[in-house]
Amino acid sequence: MQITFLGTASMKPTKERNPSAVFLKYKTEGILFDCGEGTQRQMQIMGISIPSITKICISHWHGDHILGLPGLLQTFAAEETGKTVNIYGPKGTKKHFDAIFRGVMFEEKLKININEITKPGVFFENKDFKITAMPLKHPVPCIGYSFVEKDKRRIKVSVVKKLKIPEGPLLGELQKGKNITFKGKKITPEETTRIVKGRKITIITDTMLCANCYELAENADLLICEGTFASNLKDKAEKYGHLTALEAAQTASKANVKKLILTHFSARYKDITEIEEDARTAFDNVICAYDGLKINL
Ligand SMILES: [Zn+2]
Ligand SMILES: [Zn+2]
Repeated sequence: MQITFLGTASMKPTKERNPSAVFLKYKTEGILFDCGEGTQRQMQIMGISIPSITKICISHWHGDHILGLPGLLQTFAAEETGKTVNIYGPKGTKKHFDAIFRGVMFEEKLKININEITKPGVFFENKDFKITAMPLKHPVPCIGYSFVEKDKRRIKVSVVKKLKIPEGPLLGELQKGKNITFKGKKITPEETTRIVKGRKITIITDTMLCANCYELAENADLLICEGTFASNLKDKAEKYGHLTALEAAQTASKANVKKLILTHFSARYKDITEIEEDARTAFDNVICAYDGLKINL
């Protein structure tokens, strides 16, 4: 699994930072979380092909999270891959999407499914992972996302070798968690397999502190969270419905996450040391994202 930060600015892009977008690559899936202006160019710079996108998860329809959509989808359509892209977003997503695309001469050579997420919980699931969403607290409808990989059962090779179980369907059954009978003896998955815990990545932006922040991020291996302002600008953060870096760190600590990466920085910070230090007072394993940062999990 690889996560690429395509844009780490809030409202206003800067010379160094593009507005919000994060790309998660997992097996054949390419999930784009938000699509700020310029995202398609960032993808090109960072070596990610646009047709590798399978899903686009929109947090909310503020410009800094969606203005890259028309351009990116136009390029995707021009590739004529015959692929389908699924777009997910909060209530109102269909209306906003239609309004934007009414204003653009757009040949629909790409199949686009728009899905509004109207209730909290799992909205997509396959055999490998699920994606959950929960509403956040922002002046407009906004949701946070968790990508949750499913636990897997792996064969204990030394044990099955010792038992002389041949490769093939019997091992497949054990891997599914079923008992098998081999040479007249019952063999359980407990003795022959081990559970590998799935990974969890949570993305929270934009919001004020709320109970759903903790719930969504609970036990995440990685929390990607806005840290728009440092604590000395808490008033501003509250006024515009944002988290301070300290609040993001407190969320990480309370939700028992392993690692925190802050993003969505206000353009006022030329140097984000202040943001990182603010967060570090409540949570140690924290870094500030930059455009082009890649994390392998
Ligand atoms: Zn924003
Ligand atoms: Zn916003």
